[in-house]
Amino acid sequence: MSVIRLMTCDTAVEAYLIKGRLKNEGIETFITNENFSNLMPHYTRILNSGIQIMISDADYAEASKILELNIKQELICPECQSTNIKFSLGKNKIKKIFVILISLFISIPFNNLKTVYKCQDCKAEF
Ligand SMILES: [Zn+2]
Repeated sequence: MSVIRLMTCDTAVEAYLIKGRLKNEGIETFITNENFSNLMPHYTRILNSGIQIMISDADYAEASKILELNIKQELICPECQSTNIKFSLGKNKIKKIFVILISLFISIPFNNLKTVYKCQDCKAEF
């Protein structure tokens, strides 16, 4: 048995609501990274941060079913059903790279840049 991450939430309220819902079903979870995310909310979703709900791997499938999470890990293009997907910065790539460089230079974190997945076969972004 090992502990794995069930999901990442943006707020503590959301995380505790999910924790309570799972507890009602008899599934024990715990929340981690809460203090950091409350103190540094602008880092949420950057570098895999955010309030994380941790769960035993034995309970993962049942919890996913209760929360109706999509546990399928493979990305599929909505246009052509291809699995040849790559991570991309989307439009205004040069502007986003410039923002990242400036934020590194002045040591202030950049806001969450919207990233997209790009299908390598039909070039659709989603
Ligand atoms: Zn496609």
